[in-house]
Amino acid sequence: MIDIKNVSKWYGSFQVLNNCTTNIQKGEVVVVCGPSGSGKSTLIKTVNALEPFQQGEIVVDGISLSDPKTDLPKLRARCGMVFQNFELFPHLSVTENLTLAQIKVLKRSKAEAIEHGLKYLDRVGLLAHKDKFPGQLSGGQQQRVAIARALSMDPIVMLFDEPTSALDPEMVGEVLDVMMQLAQEGMTMMCVTHEMGFARKVAHRVIFMDVGGKILEDCSKDEFFGNPDARQARTKDFLNKIL
Ligand code: ADP
Ligand code: MG
Repeated sequence: MIDIKNVSKWYGSFQVLNNCTTNIQKGEVVVVCGPSGSGKSTLIKTVNALEPFQQGEIVVDGISLSDPKTDLPKLRARCGMVFQNFELFPHLSVTENLTLAQIKVLKRSKAEAIEHGLKYLDRVGLLAHKDKFPGQLSGGQQQRVAIARALSMDPIVMLFDEPTSALDPEMVGEVLDVMMQLAQEGMTMMCVTHEMGFARKVAHRVIFMDVGGKILEDCSKDEFFGNPDARQARTKDFLNKIL
């Protein structure tokens, strides 16, 4: 579903991604972790073509991001992205947040977009809040709306960038529950997160990135958590700090 080959990226002379190679199969859940500044957000944004890169190739569902013929906005619409800070439109109601891109990008009728959006709002348990504004919801509820909004676009893959790290601790669980349900339903997911409980439960693979934008580990969940002696010193160090 996603093939990342020898991708390097620089901001000026600063290298933020260093020859990154990995792939994500259909239905796979891959957790990306690593210290702050290691390029996790940048990597996930390159997959969604939100960030350009200078070297290498990324192919999403058979379509190369570097091919000048690729319709990037269309491809982007097929990747659901969930950010740390929800990024809901504050001046729009929950329903309007859910339907805007469906109408503008997918050209769905308003009625169709509402039907579709509310189906996902119900799935994240927030149907009763459809007419509220984001500011009237808790952080956990806002993030669940953001997930429902992404799902309303019928994405082929869901990309999560630290979706629970801006939440109060008591709200982390409700967002992780929604993500776990999605994973169990077979959604292809790339999740930047330090929620190792989530990784242990539903990830198929874990990628560890280190400062300098390098993928230091890319292995199965069982290898990652089960065999610490086989891990790089930097990975062990990091795990010791967060576990
Ligand atoms: P992570 O998500 O792992 O914390 P990021 O991908 O956000 O890391 O950032 C990786 C590195 O790139 C950091 O050192 C950050 O300061 C730098 N960086 C991110 N965005 C920019 C930018 N627009 N211009 C310059 N440097 C950036
Ligand atoms: Mg980040």
